[in-house]
Amino acid sequence: MLSKAKILLIYTGGTIGMKKDFETGALRAFNFSKLLQRIPELKQLDCEVETISFDKPIDSSNMNPEKWAKIATIIADNYPSFDGFVVLHGSDTMSYSASALSFMLENLAKPVIFTGSQLPIGDLRTDAKENLITAIQIASLRENGKPVISEVCLYFEYKLYRGNRTTKINAEHFKAFTSPNYPDLVESGVHLKLNSELFLPLKSNLQLKVHKNLDKHVAIIKMFPGISEVVLTAILNIPNLKGIILETYGAGNAPTEDWFIKLLKKAINKGLHIINVTQCSAGSVSMGQYETSTSLKEIGVISGKDITTEAAITKLMYLLGQKIAPNEFKKIFETSLRGEMV
Ligand code: ASP
Repeated sequence: MLSKAKILLIYTGGTIGMKKDFETGALRAFNFSKLLQRIPELKQLDCEVETISFDKPIDSSNMNPEKWAKIATIIADNYPSFDGFVVLHGSDTMSYSASALSFMLENLAKPVIFTGSQLPIGDLRTDAKENLITAIQIASLRENGKPVISEVCLYFEYKLYRGNRTTKINAEHFKAFTSPNYPDLVESGVHLKLNSELFLPLKSNLQLKVHKNLDKHVAIIKMFPGISEVVLTAILNIPNLKGIILETYGAGNAPTEDWFIKLLKKAINKGLHIINVTQCSAGSVSMGQYETSTSLKEIGVISGKDITTEAAITKLMYLLGQKIAPNEFKKIFETSLRGEMV
């Protein structure tokens, strides 16, 4: 008989484990062991759950690449002993973290599922229990002794998404996330509906590689009508800047004015990587479709295709940390590495 799946629950912080400070009324993280006492249902699950917590749980607004490395280290250290990992995380930056970890964990062959909640676990109307319990259940799914899911995902409000395809869309609804350009991997109703044809294939014969070196010399520029030369010049001249995510309009369009194209061209010639992503919530960049993106293509701007900004910035930090040859960078960025783009 197959032994019970072993799941490691990693608590980083977030509303799920927060409690009201009576003096200020603000929510703060509290002790993880107390969190578990509030979910006796965990004992009823048909899997073994062990837990590990950040020493100091954080609001996810304080998340950063060093803390991503901490999560990656916990997963790597415990990788042989567990069948799956559930990461409890604040919802505010969860899509960034899920995207980052998807790049940092190469050849992942086990599920890593991020989840959290909009209301603390102790709240009467909390969404925390469903999110946590179903995330654990999905992480423990196995078929012929092999994990069903072998990628970094995000579970929230009855849906399992590919983590690096998600974005937070609502600060108060329980349905806080969406995956605008990739369908849901699992839908949770009376039964779990697995859309298996959408999962990344299991890479059980390859060794897990953990990449913790992320380069923070990056920036995001969101285009707006009226963006001025001084603003763009100042950003492009930030010392040691290596890459920029440029959030453009529609299908990757931007002004055709001379000063704009010249500035970008100069920066690219100096070795800066500029990635074009759309500021629309869904759809893809298609440089050359309009005249307003033809010059961007000609000067060597990289196409982010249908990637989210969260996945684009973390992929940029990851690839910069990989010390890729400059002439290879564009081709590699435009290739889907973990299912993050078409
Ligand atoms: N501010 C919280 C955080 O991201 C919100 C949440 O947990 O949903 O940590």
